[in-house]
Amino acid sequence: MKFYNTLTRELNEFKSIDGKNVKMYTCGPTVYHYAHIGNLRSYICEDILEKTLNYIGYNVTRCMNITDVGHLSSDSDTGEDKMLKGAAREHKTVLEIADYYTKAFKQDFEKLNNKWPKIVSKATDNIDEYIKIITNLLDNGYAYISNGNVYFDTTKLKDYYQLTNHKEDEMVVGARAGVEEDTYKKNQADFVLWFTKSKFADQELKWNSPWGYGYPGWHIECSGISIKYLGEYLDIHCGGVDNIFPHHTNEIAQSESYLGHKWCNYWFHVEHLNDSSGKMSKSKGEFLTVSLLEEKGYNPLAYRLFVLNSHYRKVLTFSFDAMDQASSMYDKLISKIKILKNNPIGDINTILVEEYINKFKSCLMDDLNTANALTILYDVLKDSSLSNNSKLYLIKDFDKVLSLDLIKENEISDDLKKYIEEKIEDRRQAKLNKNYALADQIRDELMSKGIIIKDTREGVTYEIK
Ligand code: AMP
Ligand code: ZN
Repeated sequence: MKFYNTLTRELNEFKSIDGKNVKMYTCGPTVYHYAHIGNLRSYICEDILEKTLNYIGYNVTRCMNITDVGHLSSDSDTGEDKMLKGAAREHKTVLEIADYYTKAFKQDFEKLNNKWPKIVSKATDNIDEYIKIITNLLDNGYAYISNGNVYFDTTKLKDYYQLTNHKEDEMVVGARAGVEEDTYKKNQADFVLWFTKSKFADQELKWNSPWGYGYPGWHIECSGISIKYLGEYLDIHCGGVDNIFPHHTNEIAQSESYLGHKWCNYWFHVEHLNDSSGKMSKSKGEFLTVSLLEEKGYNPLAYRLFVLNSHYRKVLTFSFDAMDQASSMYDKLISKIKILKNNPIGDINTILVEEYINKFKSCLMDDLNTANALTILYDVLKDSSLSNNSKLYLIKDFDKVLSLDLIKENEISDDLKKYIEEKIEDRRQAKLNKNYALADQIRDELMSKGIIIKDTREGVTYEIK
């Protein structure tokens, strides 16, 4: 299995630290608003990475943080506090906002068939861990206190920019134009580990620390949570490309200075989803969410298919035209599979099946080429030498990774079942009473809900479209 490693700037063969066990960390959402579908592109691609590793025999332990404190508008510790901004917008407390948007995030995440990570932890639940790391960094000269805040001193490292391979000057400019500089830092690239002198008078969440009453910086939470739950050595760290600098750069700086050794071997980054006006951002006001797609009548899994049709390292531009195409592609796929499901015939052609599984695997193992993996799925559907049962077997197998509900049985709730059975009984009575108009009316009512009834010799059967 190989994929692109931002740290080495090349495709690397994946070698786990501990045999078949893989430790994977994902930067979670900042829960001050809904996740936009750009954020969710990153999570879909990370989900594919996790499921591919499972598919080829690894056990993955994945951990994700929920950022509910410390993330300011600019990733370089300036600007407004995102959580306070969310709370002010909705006249709620920070905790209420965090709770509401964490639930909304989980719903959207799961609607896209992403597997919720085994370990999910809130930034505010791990304050002791950050205090432990920061104390150690201060003791060992990697951090300093200035105007009450604790900063990481980036000049203490030979290779602070190892993840970006950029020159210092470029990166400092890139740190974000248009935000006022923190004059208490010794060096422009230094970053905050702990704030006590908050410029936000209304800062809601604060904790006692050896350096005074305050709150953690954004970057320390991911080092703290990752080390606490996954240990000192990490196989893969994931995020969107905007996380490379400064967030992941700072995570490496503080984690490796604290641990005294290399921390993470592979850095997996997903390119952005843009809209026609450019970068998708929550601060822009109106933004695209999973709920908005649903309101417009799209199945969230059609969006997943849209994402899988492109490579995770390429910028993807969203448009409703493109979404319409993905949607019709999804519907066609499902209806083709439905025909197979209604005709489950033929023996499994073991040799051909194995060949297809190997082809599918090699697409994914080649830097997660999901678009090529989908082509293999289409090849399976077209292949007349494969029996229907072989095709169904393969589709089910591929869907362990693709997670497009390709083969999912029509699940029907007890309430719906009861409703249909009552209607069928009403129609039977109507026919007995020779009230054919009423019988037709009942059939049409069911049809309008996508429920097709059929009179067979064995009785009335139904199918849900
Ligand atoms: P946030 O909630 O802003 O902390 O971001 C959550 C995740 O979404 C991070 O991994 C970001 O790198 C990623 N992300 C942010 N914007 C985009 C975008 N337009 N396309 C893809 N991923 C994004
Ligand atoms: Zn992070």
